Amino acid sequence: MGNHIIDTRTSDARPKIKSAPVTNTGRFSADYPAPKRYFEAAPCEGPDCEHVIPAGFYAPQRTRSFCSLYCRNREAASRYVVGKCLHCGDEVFGRKDEVGKKPFCTAEHERAHETELIMGPTGKFRPLIDEYMSTGAANFYSLGGLSNVRVSLAKFFRFAVQLEKTTTLEDIRPSAITRFIAFERARGLTSRNFVGHLATFFRWLIAEERYQKASPVVARIHSQRNGPAQPRPYTDKDLQIVWDCIEQSGKLELMLAVAIGTECGLRIGEVCNIRVSDVDEKSQQIFVRLPTKNQRTRTVPFHGKVQHFLKLWLAKRDPRCTNDHLLHNNVLHRFTGSQLDAWFKKLLSKEPDPAGSFNFHRLRHTWATRLMNGGMELAVLKELGGWESWNSMQCYIKVLESTVRSQYEASYSKLQEKHESDEDEAISLVDFALMEIENPATSTESIVYRT
Ligand SMILES: [Zn+2]
Ligand SMILES: [Zn+2]
Repeated sequence: MGNHIIDTRTSDARPKIKSAPVTNTGRFSADYPAPKRYFEAAPCEGPDCEHVIPAGFYAPQRTRSFCSLYCRNREAASRYVVGKCLHCGDEVFGRKDEVGKKPFCTAEHERAHETELIMGPTGKFRPLIDEYMSTGAANFYSLGGLSNVRVSLAKFFRFAVQLEKTTTLEDIRPSAITRFIAFERARGLTSRNFVGHLATFFRWLIAEERYQKASPVVARIHSQRNGPAQPRPYTDKDLQIVWDCIEQSGKLELMLAVAIGTECGLRIGEVCNIRVSDVDEKSQQIFVRLPTKNQRTRTVPFHGKVQHFLKLWLAKRDPRCTNDHLLHNNVLHRFTGSQLDAWFKKLLSKEPDPAGSFNFHRLRHTWATRLMNGGMELAVLKELGGWESWNSMQCYIKVLESTVRSQYEASYSKLQEKHESDEDEAISLVDFALMEIENPATSTESIVYRT
């Protein structure tokens, strides 16, 4: 006989276990509190705490006096010497289990140590870098960009001091920059943002008259680009695959964002920045407010998809949302570009390509490519897309093969038509002369001259 499998989850035959009555096990608990004991007033034992715990009745198991959990934790963390600070050499205190795991006495010393590691090897150029960071660079870069700039400069001057034995600024020539780029590349670095950081640094030096020669960073030699960036539009098929994935998630805010990207070509930051009042449902257009990339506003029309998802989203948009941004996240705050990006990554990164590598900015490429190939005048497209220069717009537009063919055919047939009609209407002087000879009676009134 085979084994019977009894589903114990639904079996009524299973006896129910009755919970045992609570008995006093000799320990004190919430149900059986210990009688309180009288304690004299005592100072808090927390480091540097001046609180005094007043006299009174307290739990009897009290052996030490702390005014708060905070002080108790601080005291526990200061009981043992767990090592020596890498920065100042003082003893580092901590809990017993932190021996050998706490290399710094304070967070400030940890930061100072890191700065020393980065800036130390720049030698005599260090004061100059520090000055640049606090004056020039502070004006050019955002707060987040500044630390990258400092690392770039520190790397370069470490290279210059340690490997090139450079002692003065004037020793730094274009060839040194070239060698530095090669050195960084040999270390496996692919990003070359540091070239731009160096170029800006030397521009500042020249403007401040600290460097008397032409900048050693030469765009033609050191620039990170090999020709202009290529347009990367999605094909209709790929875009449909991406869209299907997003639609399956049921997240209206993401669907609306993609619809706006596809129909209006907005940058992701601009999408996050749309206010409810910037959207005109009736005339179907969105006002793109500042800040934009080039500090110019524009108004962009939209189509059916945006219209559709806008309606759905506005119905769902939480009225408790205190700001007037069109899109809001789960905690009713506006999205930042990177947040919205992260939502797409979270949703799509596990999908196969093209959804897995979805990049919102490619919607802008797709938008521009579609409109241009649909016959839009480039001047109009430039206006709608908010591009500052023709060059930057060019990186977005891919001229499709089908467009090349159809425009060639269209132009060619126009040419031919013109050619044929010209033949009908006009007579060349040679023809005219021949006509005169053949038929002297022809009157001049019936002749059309070629203009
Ligand atoms: Zn205290
Ligand atoms: Zn220290």
